[in-house]
Amino acid sequence: MKFHVLTLFPEMIEQTLGTSITGRAISQNIIELSTVQIRDFSKEKHYKVDDYPYGGGAGMLMQAQVVSDAVAHAKASIPENQSTRVIYVTPQGEPFTQKKAIELSGADDLVFLCGHYEGIDERVLEEEVTDYISIGDYVLTGGELASLVMIDAISRLVPGVLHNEVSADTESFHRGLLEYPQYSRPEVWHEKEVPKVLLSGNIREIEQWKLEQSIERTRTRRPDLYEAYERQQKAMEMLLKDKLLHIDMIEQLNRGIGEVVAMDEANILIWNFHVNIYYHTCFDVTKAESFMQGLPEKHKKQLQNLVLHQEELLPLFQSTFGMKLLMPCYQMVYTQKEQIPVKGLYQADGKELPGKVVIRTLDDSFFDVVASTYHTVDSPEYIHERLNSGEVFGAFVDGQITGFCGYHDDGSIGMLEVLPEYRGRKIGKALEVYVLNHARRRGFIPYGQVVPGNEISTALQKSIGLYQSKSPIYWMGIDEN
Ligand code: SAM
Repeated sequence: MKFHVLTLFPEMIEQTLGTSITGRAISQNIIELSTVQIRDFSKEKHYKVDDYPYGGGAGMLMQAQVVSDAVAHAKASIPENQSTRVIYVTPQGEPFTQKKAIELSGADDLVFLCGHYEGIDERVLEEEVTDYISIGDYVLTGGELASLVMIDAISRLVPGVLHNEVSADTESFHRGLLEYPQYSRPEVWHEKEVPKVLLSGNIREIEQWKLEQSIERTRTRRPDLYEAYERQQKAMEMLLKDKLLHIDMIEQLNRGIGEVVAMDEANILIWNFHVNIYYHTCFDVTKAESFMQGLPEKHKKQLQNLVLHQEELLPLFQSTFGMKLLMPCYQMVYTQKEQIPVKGLYQADGKELPGKVVIRTLDDSFFDVVASTYHTVDSPEYIHERLNSGEVFGAFVDGQITGFCGYHDDGSIGMLEVLPEYRGRKIGKALEVYVLNHARRRGFIPYGQVVPGNEISTALQKSIGLYQSKSPIYWMGIDEN
């Protein structure tokens, strides 16, 4: 992830982000920062960048050409295949939220344009800006603080920036709820005791208490968020009528990467705002068409990847929304709470011993072996992205990689391959069990998707204890023809 900040005050950006957690992430190359001094692109005397607004009004405006040249300079350093957004921070933008942070953390390059004075000539904004974002309903003197706030919130979602991988999963907003109250030593302070349950050691009761506190805190402090949470709970109740079929939708909500964007008594539409995938299910297929037609324009426009849960609706999405079937898949779900025993599969302590399997996170230096072994439609960019996410794991024997498995960007478990010379040694099972246990530790319900007819994978998953949905789901994409 690279941040490009276009500003009149680069030192303000560099100094702030160069400190603390973001500073460490920059020095370890986990995130990159490049600042562009807008003034350097002025062709005027004294590097002037502003002028009077036509029609009068208070203050000065930043001129179109100088801003346009600065944006072009930043863009020229970005390789063409990178996903890039150009953000103008402005009080007139959509409010910045944790959801927006998650959505933006999926991009490769983010260009931030910091305004000053009264703002920027509208014409250059029309040409360059993909997102207008505000950090709140108040007016700052310049865009630097707004950009810093956003970059801080986005950075901490980039894998590797926070060392404790669980903390970003549980914090405020991640499930649409505020975080529960927390306490540290001493047990009694100013005659106030730490809630007894937190000292009990009973993990189940502690988790229950935390959830109840989160719900109550959200209800009293943020009624707007609580309303959205209640809607999500209602959707969840409907989805649980067929948990195996709907596990992808359930987990988008559980993991805080999906939002119920529309629902009625027959339909639910969830949007994964991190990787822009829509999930639709329907309990009365005669009601699907009018529901989809009534969607807000924003979602109709963004609808490019869709997971459909009823075969009968394929023709509707093909004819009305110009989509095509990419592949059907069965859901495979691990429903138990317990960790799966790993004895005889891999070294639970991660120690390398002769002839034993040890599993480690892979990085992008394993691209060649993954790309040449993994036989699917996924693009090289996708494989790079997955390896960089820290969510792909390799099985090693005597220092040699023997196979790999990981999470797809929607959170499903997959990408399982064992190198031909190592097959028949339970390495596939070891990898699958490793990732299932990893997902359980993160509080996820682990699931994967298998194409109909892949008997080997289906048998492996069933032998580990996963259950298969009765009917498949259908991945659809825009039909370009
Ligand atoms: N005249 C502008 C208006 O009313 O929308 C406000 C200009 S403000 C004084 C100068 C710059 O600060 C803006 O161009 C913008 O980049 C930044 N800014 C101010 N308030 C902001 C906010 N709440 N969120 C994001 N950026 C903000």
